[in-house]
Amino acid sequence: MPYYGWDEEHISLLRASIKEFCDKELSPEYVRWMDENCDFPPDDLWKKLADWGVFERGLGGTPYDYLVIQEEIATASVAVMLAIGASISFGQGFIFMLGSPEQQQRFLQPLFKGEAKMCMALTEPGGGTDILGALSTTAVLDGDEWVINGQKIFITAAHVADYIITIAVTDKNPANPRESWSIFIVPSDTPGLTIRTIPKLGCHACACSEIFYDDVRVPKQSLLGPLNKAYRFLVQGVVDRKSSGGGESSGKKSSGGSQGPNLAMALLNQERVSTAILSLGIANAAFRDSLEYAKERQAFGKPIGQFQIIQSYLAEMAIQIENARNLIYGTVAMGLLGKPAHIQAQMAKVVAARASEYCAIKGMEIFGGYGFTMEYDIQRHFRDYKQMVFAPITDEMAMNQIAHMLGLPKSY
Ligand SMILES: Cc1cc2nc3c(=O)[nH]c(=O)nc-3n(C[C@H](O)[C@H](O)[C@H](O)COP(=O)(O)OP(=O)(O)OC[C@H]3O[C@@H](n4cnc5c(N)ncnc54)[C@H](O)[C@@H]3O)c2cc1C
Repeated sequence: MPYYGWDEEHISLLRASIKEFCDKELSPEYVRWMDENCDFPPDDLWKKLADWGVFERGLGGTPYDYLVIQEEIATASVAVMLAIGASISFGQGFIFMLGSPEQQQRFLQPLFKGEAKMCMALTEPGGGTDILGALSTTAVLDGDEWVINGQKIFITAAHVADYIITIAVTDKNPANPRESWSIFIVPSDTPGLTIRTIPKLGCHACACSEIFYDDVRVPKQSLLGPLNKAYRFLVQGVVDRKSSGGGESSGKKSSGGSQGPNLAMALLNQERVSTAILSLGIANAAFRDSLEYAKERQAFGKPIGQFQIIQSYLAEMAIQIENARNLIYGTVAMGLLGKPAHIQAQMAKVVAARASEYCAIKGMEIFGGYGFTMEYDIQRHFRDYKQMVFAPITDEMAMNQIAHMLGLPKSY
């Protein structure tokens, strides 16, 4: 386990504590029940997570605390961690980074207490990879209100969110298309909004939705961060405090007493790392279940774990998990030291997604025919891992960006 000089005793106590919480509140039976019956974690579980302090330790604690918490929860239930992550990464992350003093005052405390839920709506039906070309939702200022029209797709947790962080075009004829997007905090009960859940293959206990904006009016103060500069924050990771709508307050401590998010990383870079941790959780779970099964299942008078090829699958799983964990923890450590970690964040996303893929697929093989039934959890890991491969960015696009950062010509 890499600690990078972090307080090892504190981390092990924290890990033991969150693991104990997960063993009690996220038992395999309960997680299976949620997968079959829920499109979001039930309210009583949400309250227990809040009481434990999960939301407070999102951006209100230290980044390595949150890293450990994420890994343990994602190992118990990736869907639950995905649900939590929407409110922490998008809600807390965006508002901490970009919010005005009033916005921070209004939204951070409810987010830290788990009392407000948020989601982030960027992707549109026209395409998620070529998002700059596809984004067509508009926000037009009309007196003291912004009027939003358009459509979003695949938005995680939108069906339960109290607020939808919406990215829209605010300059229809920009000299530079990268200077045409802005971010808005849109209450989900605003007239003109329609939200429709989309059934999906995996991560059932955290649904995604389509959102339709039909003349949705929000007050002028709903703008989050500076006008027309959203792309810079989201993709390029430039936080220009002077021009930020929330700039004056952003350098200060948040009202939650936070050490704050890693300002060296773009908001979407942080999402890459968070997705990498979700993948790591799936890989951990698939490995744990497969190892246990390999020790018990008998063939030719011995446990299948005695056969060299099964051992090789399990050893490879362990290697890929360790590799992913090292890269994830290392990326966060670099961010904490204020070093740019853009390429590492992309690499962590890809390496961890591949680890989850390998562990889920080989896990299915280790389980043989039983893996293909709904009786064992390995089928859930197999369904869940797929989401990690293409969200929030596809592995293909992450590879493009890694190559580009290595100095190769842009291929798209
Ligand atoms: C379950 C789920 C949850 C999601 N949650 C959210 C959310 O909360 N908020 C949000 O805003 N979005 C969310 N997304 C959207 C997600 O970010 C996009 O699905 C993703 O960016 C891919 O976009 P796309 O699906 O439109 O695929 P496309 O962009 O249509 O890509 C299709 C294929 O073409 C490949 N491709 C495209 N361009 C290139 C290129 N230049 N080089 C190589 N290959 C290329 C892609 O890699 C992919 O394999 C979610 C998606 C899903 C499915």
